[in-house]
Amino acid sequence: MTFTVTRVAHACVLLDFAGHRLLTDPWFSERRGYYRGEPLAFTPDGLPELAGVLVSHGHYDHFDLAAFAAYPDHEVPFVVKRGLAARVVRAGFPNVIEVDAWQQASLGGLRVTAAPARHSVPEVCFVVEGAGQSVFFGGDTLRIAELDEVALRYPRIDLALLPVNGLAIRPAFNRQVVMTAEEAAELAAVLRARVAVPIHYRYTAGPIRDRFLLKYDGTPERFAEALSEAEPAVQAKILEPGEPLVVGAALGPER
Ligand SMILES: [Zn+2]
Repeated sequence: MTFTVTRVAHACVLLDFAGHRLLTDPWFSERRGYYRGEPLAFTPDGLPELAGVLVSHGHYDHFDLAAFAAYPDHEVPFVVKRGLAARVVRAGFPNVIEVDAWQQASLGGLRVTAAPARHSVPEVCFVVEGAGQSVFFGGDTLRIAELDEVALRYPRIDLALLPVNGLAIRPAFNRQVVMTAEEAAELAAVLRARVAVPIHYRYTAGPIRDRFLLKYDGTPERFAEALSEAEPAVQAKILEPGEPLVVGAALGPER
């Protein structure tokens, strides 16, 4: 079996398991200090029918409910990091499941398992299983040792979606809050993913905020280069928004 992954923009990704589709970390609008830096592949009302929406954490660029409210089916179920359900319900989507690491939910034949994460606010990563395939979604977490357990619980990850921009907060003594490209490559190697697609890298806060507030340490090209050195068996694939990638076929021998 195969499935298709399409980046919408930033960490917002559409996963299509033979017609069962999930959307991760919806971000469809821009505002001051939050610029996508790349085109948007879908508008909320132009999305295909979804079996569910996953939300890793409550930052606006991953949890843009105001814009996502234009999605026509408000019965679509959400699986969110614990603590976010009330905001989803208030936005007009009553079907919400809250999860912490290793808790599970079923969405239209797909199994979703939350995984550990660490960021500047509470967060989870996700593993999605469907159509005989497994996907790891890394939100915008740091590379924490707890993520090694994903490889133990899921010996076969077909696709890893990993943040790579190494975001750091200048006024907080350059505190790092997202893994760097090299840390993401190391994690892709630990997960032994068949394919690794970088996410979360074109965003900017605008020239003034980038100069005084935010700092970045990672590009998708650096990720691909680091991964080819760390683990050539894992194929890095940089996707433009709207460029579909079929995973699970013609990528070399089964492992
Ligand atoms: Zn964030």
